[in-house]
Amino acid sequence: MTSAWGELVSRLEGITDLVSAVKLFEWDQASIMPAAGGPARARASSTLEGLIHERLTDPKIGDLLSRLEEEADALDEQQRASVRVLKRDYEKATKVPEELVKALAIARGNAYQAWAQARPADDFSILQPQLETLIDLKKQEADALGWEGERYDALLDQFEPGMKTAEVQVMFDELVDGLRPIVDAVLDAVDDPPAFLARDYDEDKQMEFCRWLIKQLDFDLDRGRLDTSPHPFTIAIGIGDVRQTTRAEANALMTSIYATIHETGHALYEQGIPDETRDLPIGTCPSLGIHESQSRMWENQVGRSRAYTDFLLPHLKERFPEELGMVDLEEFYRGVNHPRRTLIRVTADELTYNLHVALRFELEIAMFRDELDVADLPDAWDAAMEKYVGIRPTDHADGVLQDMHWSISALGYFPTYTLGTIYSAAFFAQAEKELGDLSDELRAGATTRLFEWLREKVHRHGYMYDAKDLAEQVVGGPVTATALLDYLRSKYGELYSASI
Ligand code: ZN
Repeated sequence: MTSAWGELVSRLEGITDLVSAVKLFEWDQASIMPAAGGPARARASSTLEGLIHERLTDPKIGDLLSRLEEEADALDEQQRASVRVLKRDYEKATKVPEELVKALAIARGNAYQAWAQARPADDFSILQPQLETLIDLKKQEADALGWEGERYDALLDQFEPGMKTAEVQVMFDELVDGLRPIVDAVLDAVDDPPAFLARDYDEDKQMEFCRWLIKQLDFDLDRGRLDTSPHPFTIAIGIGDVRQTTRAEANALMTSIYATIHETGHALYEQGIPDETRDLPIGTCPSLGIHESQSRMWENQVGRSRAYTDFLLPHLKERFPEELGMVDLEEFYRGVNHPRRTLIRVTADELTYNLHVALRFELEIAMFRDELDVADLPDAWDAAMEKYVGIRPTDHADGVLQDMHWSISALGYFPTYTLGTIYSAAFFAQAEKELGDLSDELRAGATTRLFEWLREKVHRHGYMYDAKDLAEQVVGGPVTATALLDYLRSKYGELYSASI
């Protein structure tokens, strides 16, 4: 081990500890903290984040990285990958001038507050000036970070490092073109949702079921927890401590089950990143899209499959004999796969979800190409919703104001949801190619072979490779939207006897 490496690692350990504290704050705030603690917590978090930024951008880190690049021959593969990843983060963190970083933090706070008022008031004009400021600052940030193809590349790179707008555009075009005829044919054939979906289910029993379910899915409860929060999420606090949350509402049993399976996908990934890399830059995932590939696969390809719903229903009936006693396997499977046109992304089904993302991607690109002004966003939103999903919002609250993402400056973030879905289908198809048809196992609730395959192919690598390279390595070639389209076509064609 070189002395520069040893010094770098000891600095990184200190940074990891600070990050761990920030994450614990986040988990606490989102799950159990009294709301009145908000302002004090915001200050405490920002103090810690300031310390992390200071330590990460310390010129000494830059010196150590340069020395290690010179000594690259003496480094092993993990060390070289760590240097590569950290160098990129270091450059990103040091390229943006201090003043711009501060201005962005303030603009973000203002825009989020404005959004929180604008949505219930159904009044876009409350958000507009704050969002204009924020978008303008984000353009400056993108230019400071630098880009080659187009400005949006710099935004995308913050969530999906290495991926270019043009590459994402190709995947989205294939997906949207392929989806349209499927969606039209299926939605014409759909009837009303079955009654069991909206029945009241005891919330404590829902949580009991979710706890049982995550164990079935190999989530290690000695190294993790399940709690509740209004917006389910997963967070790795540190080695041996991966926390996921779900929510239980009386008339939304399926939301609670599928949010739990989704978050378990994220949590299994976090539990599979090797402990010995956790203090290193490679001890994380390469991109949000890859992370989302895990959650979507468990939620959809596994959780919503005919085989796995056959496994789930009898266990649900044991806990909810009155509510589900009369529901048969076919009705249950159709119920958890009931597509419809909706205005709201977060309640959209597997079939139409990606159209909601595609419209956001289109609008974000237009804004960063200076082809769309914030003032024209509401009209552009309504038109895009009609074009992609086939319905028109009647107000802004359920239209352009529905997501908080833009107000917290998560621009370039939305496409990672769909990239994750595209990866999930490609990975699952590959898993079945290598492991054989998994449906008999899933029907018995036996998911361990798939879990171990994912651990081997994805989890254990952490951030050794960029997302695109990792994905290509898993499937043995470039990833396209084809596997996702094939999967949706076959599943929904069979379900609704639609010719697609
Ligand atoms: Zn997710």
